[in-house]
Amino acid sequence: MNGSRNSSLKVINSSIAELNHAVVGCTLCPRLVAYREEIGRVKRRAYMDWEYWAKPVPGFGDGNARMLILGLAPGAHGSNRTGRPFTGDGSGDFMYPVLYETGFASQPLATNRGDGMKLTDAYITAAVRCAPPGNKPAPEEIANCAHFLDADIALLRKLRVVVALGKIGFDAYLNHLRRIGVITSRAPYEFRHGAEYQIPNGMVLLGTYHPSLQNTNTGKLTAEMFRRIFERARELIHHGGAEARRKMEVGPKRRDDAL
Ligand code: SF4
Repeated sequence: MNGSRNSSLKVINSSIAELNHAVVGCTLCPRLVAYREEIGRVKRRAYMDWEYWAKPVPGFGDGNARMLILGLAPGAHGSNRTGRPFTGDGSGDFMYPVLYETGFASQPLATNRGDGMKLTDAYITAAVRCAPPGNKPAPEEIANCAHFLDADIALLRKLRVVVALGKIGFDAYLNHLRRIGVITSRAPYEFRHGAEYQIPNGMVLLGTYHPSLQNTNTGKLTAEMFRRIFERARELIHHGGAEARRKMEVGPKRRDDAL
């Protein structure tokens, strides 16, 4: 087993800070290591005066969170630049105002690691911690990074709700549940915006379209649709998920055909 993976397993029963230290030092995926560092060297014209983070991006938020937001991977010029999930790109500009309005974030704007943002009852992590070319991690890269997701979830002991951003985040959580023996198959759990599943271990899984510019600029995901997901997460946190409906209707027009 690779040394990086060993080091993350050692911290699974330790602290979030130690886990994040292991994440930041990881070099398990050669293609992603090369890409994240190349992006940091070349930069984008608008960010030439930035020193890019160009390392794996650790999770961020409240260690006592009852809600986990599970995304896909860092954006090349967003969190790969700033070092914090969804910070400094269009996805974050869409997501943080909704987290602010629903009481999970201290402010609507996320620009850099020193901007004062604090999350309450929410923690953000991703299926893959390094920016992938074209926002498309390879299956083996998702598999490589899965041990960090397992460790994050093990350390967030108060979790009750997982909000999965997009199908890759949704599947990453289901694969986690398979690895820890909570479910045996992903088949009963179909991704769609507004999907809501009661998990046998007491957790509730909510699916939402990813707040990528591709989805938000086209109106496939609106702020209202997104806000309703987090309002529902808040409801589940406060009232439990035992009565959770299998599917939740969200948005004026549901578009289940395109993920
Ligand atoms: S994607 Fe995950 S496993 Fe791969 S190098 Fe980055 S942190 Fe390590």
